[in-house]
Amino acid sequence: MSTSPYGTTNGRRAFVKDGVLLLTAMSLGNQALSAPLAKRESVKIGLITDLHYADKPPGGSRHYRDTPAKLAQAGIEFQKEKPNFVVELGDLIDAASSVKTEQTYLRKINAEFSQVCPERYYVLGNHCVDTLHKEEFLSEVEQPKSFYSFDRGGYHFVVLDSCFRSDGQPYGRKNFTWTDANIPAEELEWLTADLEANSKPTIVFAHQRLDVSNNHGVKNCPEVRKVLEKSGLVEAVFQGHSHQNDLNEINGIHYCTMVAMVEGAGIDNNGFSLLNLNADGTIHLKGFHKQQAYDWK
Ligand SMILES: [Zn+2]
Repeated sequence: MSTSPYGTTNGRRAFVKDGVLLLTAMSLGNQALSAPLAKRESVKIGLITDLHYADKPPGGSRHYRDTPAKLAQAGIEFQKEKPNFVVELGDLIDAASSVKTEQTYLRKINAEFSQVCPERYYVLGNHCVDTLHKEEFLSEVEQPKSFYSFDRGGYHFVVLDSCFRSDGQPYGRKNFTWTDANIPAEELEWLTADLEANSKPTIVFAHQRLDVSNNHGVKNCPEVRKVLEKSGLVEAVFQGHSHQNDLNEINGIHYCTMVAMVEGAGIDNNGFSLLNLNADGTIHLKGFHKQQAYDWK
């Protein structure tokens, strides 16, 4: 049984109440209710994903030019709720015919994102580094690394980069197929060491999914999950990439897939969320528009 500062992370069951999916501890006798709480504070995090911003006409259900208005709407909510920081879970931009044009897309949407919240964290999505090299994307958003971790309010946060081919080569300049997503050995070693040195409840942010073995999943996700499970401190993984709400629990960790901002016309089809990590160890995900809400106890 894996343990965390607020007890077991195993054995939760889910039920839906008032349209909100609730996950609760299986038994009253488990540690979740009896272990002393670590010094947690409330941390509030804005989450957005799969913006796919591009100045081009819609492609299927993807309305690229509607993203700025949707982001502005998220910004209004975030300004009301004042999250500590905002995490962008990948695919901030979509393809252009040239590197230069794509950089103008990135500059525009990132300038608008910068207005939303002063503290921002970026996860690399396959579309972020399709035409661009990783260094080009990262320098534009002023983030030194593609995978990293940080602490806040008694929590540990990990950002992963699955934009690597099976042979370990990083994505960039159209050198990959999107279904070949991997976390290479070097990053896994870093993750293992990072989690071994950590003693705080942990939240992971990723783009490609770590809970499925289909086209949207990271190819070596079973190996990655083993590292997360071994730590005993990882509570939830928030991910994007497949554009739809989804939730799986695997060995006590919630794998929560967020709805894409780019899907559907106009702000009524928007989707974004506020993740409330509460001081009592409960987690509430407040979903806006098409984003599903969740409560985890
Ligand atoms: Zn996407």
